[in-house]
Amino acid sequence: MNDSQNQQALDAQLDSLIQPFKAVASPLQEFLSDLYIKYKPLTEGKVADYIPELAKVDPDLFAISVVTVDGKVIEVGDIDQLFTIQSASKPFVHGLTLEDCGRDFVLSRVGVEPTGEAFNAIVLDESSGRPYNPMVNAGAIATAGLVKGDDPTAKLNRVMEMFRNYCGRDLYVDMSVYTSERSTGHRNRAIAHLMLNFGMVDQNLDDMLDLYFKQCSVMVNCHDLGVMAATLANNGRNPMTNARALDSQYIKDVLSVMYTCGMYDYSGEWSYRVGLPAKSGVGGGIVAVVPKLLGIGVFSPRLDSRGNSVRGVKVCEELSSHFGFHSFDLHDDHSKFLSSLTRTRST
Ligand code: GLN
Repeated sequence: MNDSQNQQALDAQLDSLIQPFKAVASPLQEFLSDLYIKYKPLTEGKVADYIPELAKVDPDLFAISVVTVDGKVIEVGDIDQLFTIQSASKPFVHGLTLEDCGRDFVLSRVGVEPTGEAFNAIVLDESSGRPYNPMVNAGAIATAGLVKGDDPTAKLNRVMEMFRNYCGRDLYVDMSVYTSERSTGHRNRAIAHLMLNFGMVDQNLDDMLDLYFKQCSVMVNCHDLGVMAATLANNGRNPMTNARALDSQYIKDVLSVMYTCGMYDYSGEWSYRVGLPAKSGVGGGIVAVVPKLLGIGVFSPRLDSRGNSVRGVKVCEELSSHFGFHSFDLHDDHSKFLSSLTRTRST
């Protein structure tokens, strides 16, 4: 068989697996299954390998999760597969520091301006000395330095408790990814030293970097990302457990920074095309939030040149345009999405 015959055989195989359950699926479930089939063959992009441990992931893994603010879960693919959260942790830790230190103090240490630069750029705002925003490495490292706690263990425990509230289950730090991050994280160390030079962070760089490396090395699955996004969409309360993960007064801070800065130097085009607050990570995860309606988690490890999941971006673009999720699509009243949850096919 040639490549295209192989592909057809694969598509037919996938379709036959999905058909029986399509008969009773909601239109949204069908839509996700169709997206899965459409993008499964897409092998564009490259798995991150600058952190050696990340290069070991199976590049073909693919999952999509949609979780509504009233707790409905619609998913497809390798939904239980664990992977590291990486930069998708950044908005959640940002939220924690807003609770810990207040909006004004956090803003005095980390800006809210998009950089237009790579996520790991060694660059600070010249006039203020602050890192540009909490979604790039510089800002996220400074943000990790603001987490309250008597000692490093207490700080990590607070981060893990915060994740538990968002996910509804206990997560853990993958020690081999963490060790890999720590032993190769020279750029991040350089960024931390530059911030120390500008007086933007405290002396204890090692503890701050250590917490940052650990928060990036937390293992999640795609379902977790869906629930975490849905918690933000639900004003900070986990729709499955009802636990409060973030004080509702800070939701707008977290979402607006995700909106303008969450997809690195693709953030402008992302906001224009998809129109949703989101955050990606080099582990291949993306969280996207449709405020007051739902959360989206996508996992697919192959990344584009900016470090965003190739399939993840496509899936979010399609979901947003099909259901009119763009924040400024003022025609949309979400009726198409809401009816897609409940109708069932008769065939
Ligand atoms: N741990 C990674 C780093 O610091 C996170 C980067 C990312 O996901 N974009 O480089």
